[in-house]
Amino acid sequence: MRFEIVTIFPEFFTSIFENGILRRALAEGLVTVGVHDLRVFTHDRHRTVDDRPFGGGEGMVLKPEPLAEALASLGIAPKAERQAGDDAQTHPRVILLSAQGRPFTQAMARELAATERVVLICGRYEGVDERVNVIYCDMELSIGDYVLTNGALPAMVVIDAVTRLLPGALGDDESSHDESFSHGLLEYPQYTRPAEFRGTKVPDVLVSGHHAEIEKWRREQAKLRTKERRPDLMK
Ligand code: SAM
Repeated sequence: MRFEIVTIFPEFFTSIFENGILRRALAEGLVTVGVHDLRVFTHDRHRTVDDRPFGGGEGMVLKPEPLAEALASLGIAPKAERQAGDDAQTHPRVILLSAQGRPFTQAMARELAATERVVLICGRYEGVDERVNVIYCDMELSIGDYVLTNGALPAMVVIDAVTRLLPGALGDDESSHDESFSHGLLEYPQYTRPAEFRGTKVPDVLVSGHHAEIEKWRREQAKLRTKERRPDLMK
């Protein structure tokens, strides 16, 4: 799978690709990444990527031309010009990171993990000229109901959540099978050694060796937690 990131902060991405699961996924060729500096697609001395909003108001807006050039360099045509045979599997998913987008969920991460190539456009300032969204983007994606200063962190969130779902990305001692949201529930509580810590023991069932009982306890705990913490997921 390949991620293409279009950003004015290419240097932000260095650390996530040099550590942990992402570093391993890159080394093993499970993912490849292109980080594209939007300023490369400008033609003036100041490498201008933004301009004042029409209609007035505070802040600046990312201009459409550099973004269109960046997308063209990745072979991304306007939606109206894409081939009829292109579908989500064969054509890259072009995603605009935006606080106004569809909420990013585990289900969406799974959907993207089945895609060959994902393009992530990172906004900045007041956002991106709306025509970029309308003309090029398949989807706007939000990582939560809050406003960040730019799209680099949201892009990293998406890349991390998607990559760890790719077959072979997690090591033998890690699994995405039972974890929160994988079955519509939060995960049960986890414990490790020591069996007693500051006077608090782990639940007896977990040290009983009865696998069926442990499974039952975990299922119940997952439901209980979800009901208490995220009743919206139970619906
Ligand atoms: N003016 C915009 C608004 O009110 O919706 C906020 C722009 S924000 C300061 C700048 C950029 O950060 C956005 O264009 C987007 O790429 C990114 N961003 C901020 N919050 C985000 C979120 N919750 N999810 C995804 N991207 C976000």
